[in-house]
Amino acid sequence: MPDRRSPIQDFLELIHARYADFREGEVATYIPELANANPESFGICVATADGFVYEVGDSRQEFTIQSISKPFVYGLALDERGPEHMFTKVGVEPSGDAFNAISLHKTSGCPLNPMINAGAIATTGQIGASPPEPCFERILEMFSRYTGHAMHVDEAVYESESLTGHRNRAIGHLLRNFDVLEGDPTAAVDTYFRQCAISVNCVDLALMGATLANQGINPLTGTRAIKDTHVRSVLSVMASCGMYDFSGGWIYNVGMPAKSGVAGGVVAVLAGQLGIGVYSPRLDAQGNSARALQVCRELSQAWQLHQFNPPFCAHTSRRMRCTGEERHSSRIRHPTERACLGEHGGQIHLFEIQGNLAFATVEPIIRDVVRCTGRRGVILDFHHVTGINHVASQLLADLADALSHQGTAIFFTSTQQLPLLRQEVGSHLADASVIDRLFRFRSTDAALEWCEDELLRELMPAGPLTVNDLRLFEIASGLADEELGVFSGLITRRPYAPGDYVIRRGDEATSLFLVTKGIVGVWLGDHESGKRVASFSVGTMVGEMAFLDGARRSANVVAEGDVECAVFELEDFNRLLESHPQLHTTILRNIGVSLATKLRKVNEDVRILIAERQ
Ligand code: GLU
Repeated sequence: MPDRRSPIQDFLELIHARYADFREGEVATYIPELANANPESFGICVATADGFVYEVGDSRQEFTIQSISKPFVYGLALDERGPEHMFTKVGVEPSGDAFNAISLHKTSGCPLNPMINAGAIATTGQIGASPPEPCFERILEMFSRYTGHAMHVDEAVYESESLTGHRNRAIGHLLRNFDVLEGDPTAAVDTYFRQCAISVNCVDLALMGATLANQGINPLTGTRAIKDTHVRSVLSVMASCGMYDFSGGWIYNVGMPAKSGVAGGVVAVLAGQLGIGVYSPRLDAQGNSARALQVCRELSQAWQLHQFNPPFCAHTSRRMRCTGEERHSSRIRHPTERACLGEHGGQIHLFEIQGNLAFATVEPIIRDVVRCTGRRGVILDFHHVTGINHVASQLLADLADALSHQGTAIFFTSTQQLPLLRQEVGSHLADASVIDRLFRFRSTDAALEWCEDELLRELMPAGPLTVNDLRLFEIASGLADEELGVFSGLITRRPYAPGDYVIRRGDEATSLFLVTKGIVGVWLGDHESGKRVASFSVGTMVGEMAFLDGARRSANVVAEGDVECAVFELEDFNRLLESHPQLHTTILRNIGVSLATKLRKVNEDVRILIAERQ
């Protein structure tokens, strides 16, 4: 049996053992039912932003959520009523007063933040208030989206707080007095009591944290619990006001947005990374679980979880950069075209990007693209991009817009896995033609081929060849006039309509094709459904491999548009051995040279691929 122990699990167990005998603090008693908690209970759970759960101790022990409900209900209120409305009801400033202080803004009467009771009751009063509906159900549903299972209320704790919560009732009435609460304050306070009595365990808390860490989506169920745009608002109030009067010390030492409750629970969140849930009912003088505080401090130090630790340097988003001089598309071209691209291909720039794109990772790419000199074509390949945020998408859209209007053709390729990019570019740019052009090619090879064609069209306006002149084909290189006459006599011209097969995979090889008009594509599998692996322009030769070794055709070759080929039969070639041995030898050598050129191109592609991986 392999040892499956994880150093992460080991460390949690070590921390749990280290604080097992730590007995500082007192269990809360002002809600009588809370006094019944077992002071020894102690659980820890860490849930990663992709939903892996580590747990130790009493991590499944149920307790009431209490004030930990506050930031989550605030998130629900932001979702339901919008931030502007919520700002008219409750602020976001730390109060410096106790959680249950009757502290309202001097003139507006608004509570200072949603983490003190006054702010939380004002927030709860906004849930489902318009149109009226059973708002507590909405709160319970919201929590089940975070935890991934149905939630329930600990009725004994609810009853207990309902019987004794006169101070909170007073706060409710004051809020009504200032019109912060518009309806019946008793209903808002009652709903608040119920939300505080929702039963949770450490795993629930850690998953709630992991959901916030994962941009508001529960990583185990894939359900969205809160709009992504409101996650940071919730984390902000947790960071500034989440730990009662220790909020400043907490963010200084532990550095994670967090919230604690009087039952002894704490949830902490590190955006993008993890959620932590700790339970231990003994509270310190500020009302925070004394053990949870130690545990979170230790975890933060050991795993460097402080959110203000400098992030890793992000300049790794450029995976590869080259020009059209160094890298060519899979189109096989005539030597004159190859020479032209060799000389001017530097005007085509190709970037392969990788990783997660946010401001800091997309900025170096934008900087490089803007600095490319003499750029005619720019291709950004997103194949290795794992994620992209709004701002990176918008900056790239602006870049594409600016370059397009300067006359540079810019393409985003391999974007199929990044729907947000397409969506953001679509809503950010007004010019539909820029958008269409940007996403026109799925593959980098197709975009590169297009850029090469454009460059050649411009630099060789008359076209590279007179198609009827067989002398321009590599196969005829070095032939004397008389030999060319013999060779031409053996050639038959054959036209093809778009989509016609020039060569079929598996066929016997009986002829060689010289492309005299149009382009032919080489397909593995069927034309359309298979994969186009190469193509041939006017002036190139197709099918010589099987022509030489007699093997069956290995791929399909299909006409792209109207095509004409000059066809040279194997039989005729063989006959030349007797009738014109010198001509036969020259043709054979020319075929060899052509194959060597193709092999060199393949070697170059392989070299680039290998270099990329080193
Ligand atoms: N229901 C509790 C109260 O309002 C919550 C207090 C807390 O956890 O901070 O008193």
